[in-house]
Amino acid sequence: MKIALIAHDKKKQDMIRLAVKYRDVLALHELYATGTTGTMIMGETGLKITRMKSGPLGGDQQIGSMVADGNLDMILFLRDPLTAQPHEPDVSALLRLCDVMNIPLATNVAGCEIFLDYLADLK
Ligand code: PGA
Repeated sequence: MKIALIAHDKKKQDMIRLAVKYRDVLALHELYATGTTGTMIMGETGLKITRMKSGPLGGDQQIGSMVADGNLDMILFLRDPLTAQPHEPDVSALLRLCDVMNIPLATNVAGCEIFLDYLADLK
């Protein structure tokens, strides 16, 4: 599967914990991420990830473009619901496109774990 990983700044440590815990599962898939999230996960896990631009600089839109083109199968997006984001319109557009295209989208740790457990069971 093609899977995108995105985490807002206050959620990046949670994303790293997830990526470490599910490293072996994630390694079986084609991974994409926004810039900073991807750099941090690669640094901590050694996973191979194709990085887009940083979220506030258009990375969410790039991932949205992949969704629109039918080139992504799942998105794990740890959003920070308590902090205003400068690129909120981009975030909303990405969430909307996932619903338009019926792409599985998890926006918190519990949802990501359910998705990743599902992927682990596919092995
Ligand atoms: P980042 O972008 O991984 O480059 O920090 C994430 C976001 O804020 O959407």
